[in-house]
Amino acid sequence: MGYISGKELLTHAYENQYAVGAFSAHNAETILAILEAAEQEQAPIMIQVGQKVINTIGLEPMKAMIDVFMKNISVPVCIHLDHSREYEQTMKAIQLGFQSVMFDGSALSFEENTSITRKVVDASRALGIGSEGEIGKIGGTEDDITVAEEDAMITATEEAVAFVEATDVDYLAVSIGTAHGIYKNPPKLAFERLKEISAAVNRPIVLHGGSDVPDEQITKAVSLGIAKINVDTELRQSFTKGMQQVLEENPEEFHLAVSLGRGREVMQKKVQEKIRLFGSAGKASEFTTREKVVTL
Ligand SMILES: [Zn+2]
Repeated sequence: MGYISGKELLTHAYENQYAVGAFSAHNAETILAILEAAEQEQAPIMIQVGQKVINTIGLEPMKAMIDVFMKNISVPVCIHLDHSREYEQTMKAIQLGFQSVMFDGSALSFEENTSITRKVVDASRALGIGSEGEIGKIGGTEDDITVAEEDAMITATEEAVAFVEATDVDYLAVSIGTAHGIYKNPPKLAFERLKEISAAVNRPIVLHGGSDVPDEQITKAVSLGIAKINVDTELRQSFTKGMQQVLEENPEEFHLAVSLGRGREVMQKKVQEKIRLFGSAGKASEFTTREKVVTL
């Protein structure tokens, strides 16, 4: 099948009331775990490249590695740039052929956030790819930026509407009670606000901090307009647990293929679990028209 524009992908999910998993990749084994989980479940997916892995491996090598592994994959896949805080980096990803980009200006003033996001939307649209913007501060720690619980405000509906009117962004990340990283207490999503924002902006909404959100809250959020769910922490935990199992069994197992391989297996199972929970299992067959495929 190949690559698909984030906009096409999430529009389909939004209209058909399921969510696409946006899973973060950190190395070759995590890329394979994500792609093979999608293939097993016949699910369209997003594979996210975030700031941590850009700092260690780099944007271009990650894109190239995903391209190589895509050769054996038949389901629609969209490579997404997660939480870019620099306009230049966002444009670089667009040039490299990402099918979706997020410029995160949530730490900037409303005016700066809208003006840069608008530029990213224009560039993305010219190429037929998707764009994500963020309004409101999501709690927790992402890429060394920490938003304290008291600063993590639930996004106001008026603010979300004003942001969408000013940017016409394809999909919108809002703060509705989730956080990045590990929860101290289980989150309680602000469903009324989500319902209100979704009805007012009439486009796919993105849930960040999707790890460890109770299943029934995920299902309800999807029914109210969440069409993309970011998962990173739970996948890293699964991968690490797999490696730990190997080293507990044999502390002298120095073949990385063995420990990384087990990490990959455990993580793949977790990705498959999430795909089924989000309702995207089996949806790949609904993307058969060639014109929906973007080859950049
Ligand atoms: Zn995030």
